Amino acid sequence: MTVQFWKKENWSRLGVSLKVLLALLFLMIGLVPMGFLGLMMNRGYRRTQIDGRVIEVQNQSLITSDRLTRADYMGAARGDALVGRELDTVADIFNGRIVVVDRNFRIIKDTFNLSEGKINVSEPVLKCFQGEHGILREEQKQYFAVTAPIYDSTPERNIVGVLLIIASTENILSNVSSVMESTRFFILIAFLLLALIGTLLASLIVKPFDRLQVALDRMADGNLEENISENTYRETMAISEAVQTAKTKLQTVDQSREDFVANVSHELKTPITSIRVLADSLMSMEEVPVELYKEFMSDISEEIDRESKIVDDLLSLVKMDKSSAELNIAQVDINALVQQILKRLTPIAQKRNVELIYESIREVVADADETKLSLAVSNLVENAIKYNMENGWVRVTLDADHKYFYIRVADSGIGIPEDKQDSVFERFYRVDKARSRETGGTGLGLAITKNVVLMHYGSIRLMSKEGEGSVFTVRIPLTYIY
Ligand code: ADP
Repeated sequence: MTVQFWKKENWSRLGVSLKVLLALLFLMIGLVPMGFLGLMMNRGYRRTQIDGRVIEVQNQSLITSDRLTRADYMGAARGDALVGRELDTVADIFNGRIVVVDRNFRIIKDTFNLSEGKINVSEPVLKCFQGEHGILREEQKQYFAVTAPIYDSTPERNIVGVLLIIASTENILSNVSSVMESTRFFILIAFLLLALIGTLLASLIVKPFDRLQVALDRMADGNLEENISENTYRETMAISEAVQTAKTKLQTVDQSREDFVANVSHELKTPITSIRVLADSLMSMEEVPVELYKEFMSDISEEIDRESKIVDDLLSLVKMDKSSAELNIAQVDINALVQQILKRLTPIAQKRNVELIYESIREVVADADETKLSLAVSNLVENAIKYNMENGWVRVTLDADHKYFYIRVADSGIGIPEDKQDSVFERFYRVDKARSRETGGTGLGLAITKNVVLMHYGSIRLMSKEGEGSVFTVRIPLTYIY
């Protein structure tokens, strides 16, 4: 399979390496200010070098123009060869060009001997004749020009000429670029060092996460015994704790599944064992009277009924364990539903001499799965009859407010000890195993009821006192919210 790297989803699947990200961050933090500083220093260096040269040339221009004024170069000593040579020397020293322009803008001296006799009406020259001498910088062309006035020898000191010095900045710029070169080299070394240190630091920082990952991988391989505790950072500590909690839950689920399977096998085996004992004893006897046969066969039939009830209950429970989408919600007349249950259970109650009382406080129509709710309420009423006293009573009350309806099943029965009250909703849990068996209980009734109530987003509460009776209260929302 080829991975198409340019696709965004492929990148997000590959993820971004925290290590690489950190290393890059260190590099950026180190390099950006360094590069910026280098750039600023280079600029400053270049500027001071050029400014220094300008000042130097400017001073020289003033000294030279003064010398020309004193020599009366524009008057009596015009074109004097000696002064001319002096100018050549100065120009050489400054690695520049000296041009002298007279009042008529004619060039009378050019140390480059290129434009003598020509006219120069350039802006600096014009300005200098007007008394504004200064500098003209042409950084792009790598030179600058400085002007200085030459006066006559009269006391009025009229400007009779202009001294123009054109100096090159080429040397300075090549100096600056060699400095720049060493700065670049320095930055390269710094880059390599920073990359190395950044990678080492990033590895060090990410190490606890790596260790965590190794531990998680081991856990994924099925090693659930090992404890995960990576406490270097608060974050790794939080992850470790979360994983530990998830692991404990997983182990609990695992354990309860094992327990459930063990319980199911045990419960299913009990009637089978009885059937086998009954059948074996019948077979071992010779000339068994028909009455005994009938009695044993009826016992076997009872055990088969029991087995079948356990299987039915288990199937109901398994169905209930699936999502609430399995619910078949419709508008149900809860009064009618409860009345029907009570009618169906009246014969059992009469058999045990238990009085069934129904109290309907108001008419209730609610969203519910009729079959499942009916099963849940039946279990409660059946239990109230089963775990009752001789001549006892069971009172079923139906009430509602604007949000919920309540079904209360109270009995005058044997009650449930306080420390067992939470456990009775567990699968196969029975307070008194012998009594439950006697009454045909499977230990699954309350687990089924609780599941049904939870599927309807309701709740179930139990209040009971040993020897006095129990009250189960179911509360379910009138409207089912999908
Ligand atoms: P069973 O099939 O044994 O009745 P249930 O899940 O319905 O299973 O109930 C679990 C246990 O809770 C019962 O075995 C019984 O000990 C206790 N129990 C349930 N309802 C009552 C009640 N109304 N009064 C006293 N004990 C009860």
